[in-house]
Amino acid sequence: MLAAPSISAFNPPRRILMGPGPSDVYPEVLSAQSRPTVGHLDPLFVGMMDELKALIQYAFQTKNEMTLAVSAPGSAGMETCFVNLVEPGEQVIVCRNGVFGERMRQNVERVGATPIMVDNEWGQPVSVSDVEAALKANPEAKFLAFVHAETSTGALSDAKALCALAKAHGCLTIVDAVTSLGGVELKVDEWGIDAIYSGSQKCLSCVPGLSPVSFSPAAVEKIKNRNTQVQSWFLDQSLVMGYWSGEGKRSYHHTAPVNALYALHESLRLLAEEGLENAWQRHKDMHLLLREGLEKLGLKFVVDEQSRLPQLNAVYIPEGVNDAEVRTQLLTHYNLEIGAGLGALAGKAWRIGLMGFGARRENVALCLRALEEQLG
Ligand SMILES: *Cc1c(COP(=O)(O)O)cnc(C)c1O
Repeated sequence: MLAAPSISAFNPPRRILMGPGPSDVYPEVLSAQSRPTVGHLDPLFVGMMDELKALIQYAFQTKNEMTLAVSAPGSAGMETCFVNLVEPGEQVIVCRNGVFGERMRQNVERVGATPIMVDNEWGQPVSVSDVEAALKANPEAKFLAFVHAETSTGALSDAKALCALAKAHGCLTIVDAVTSLGGVELKVDEWGIDAIYSGSQKCLSCVPGLSPVSFSPAAVEKIKNRNTQVQSWFLDQSLVMGYWSGEGKRSYHHTAPVNALYALHESLRLLAEEGLENAWQRHKDMHLLLREGLEKLGLKFVVDEQSRLPQLNAVYIPEGVNDAEVRTQLLTHYNLEIGAGLGALAGKAWRIGLMGFGARRENVALCLRALEEQLG
């Protein structure tokens, strides 16, 4: 017998999360999550799932039937798109301007397909003309994959233009909207996006661990006409859809994360109540307020103004300032978390998130006050 460890209940303090995610969770969402667990085939739960689907469709601005939340974080949403759509031997044009484009490349390789890379510098958006050249040079390519909002740098790419180009060259699009959903304009149907995935813990301000995804009719057709079986049992959407499809009887696939789905339902309901356009505007307004203060402190943005994400503000750490020390001070004195640099920007930049419920005036004021104290 191992002796029982003597451990007390975990009681974290209330932090203010202004990093690259998870973001501050809405109090309503935390309370929704603590409601009684019901069976995941309970008729009441099934009704909640139907509403959830409609809410995800609204957030994505899509009528796609195949719209659901994968029971795992954004990374699993990414993998869901690649393993279901891409078959061994196919060519995928992958845009890489930060950490998450590189992860797309790794997904393509693991599927046994061939990535064709379009590289842009960290901090730059994906170059539309470079993508056009790659599409022309690779007529065999079946997909264009890119990150809408690169969280590692704070750069926003022109998803509308990229999707139009892909369509003109007969490619399906796979779009990472983990950080963009709810924070900046995103229109899945209007822009012709074929496969899209997001995450619960960024601008939706829900608890981490769920990934809303959506597939266009053309993407569904591609999945139906596969020559090979999807290599992942859990992520195989043809199996999962039996559970999510609205009509008829639901069949068991896996035990849905019942309470986490209550949380997502509430966060998306709050987004719908605010209205997408109002949410986008709030992110922009708070970004401008933060920007003004950061510039007064002499901090310089990594990304040029025209492609800057409002919800992810990457600024260079000034010469002679101790990165880890400042972040530790913010955490201990203000309960405030800001993000460290990732990949090529590790040790060089801070990433200040204004995501979802975190994009509020009081957070901006606190962050500026705390940084002023450290840098002043
Ligand atoms: C956070 C993030 C992911 C991964 O999401 P997880 O929930 O951490 O797995 C993927 N892509 C982008 C752009 C992200 O910001």
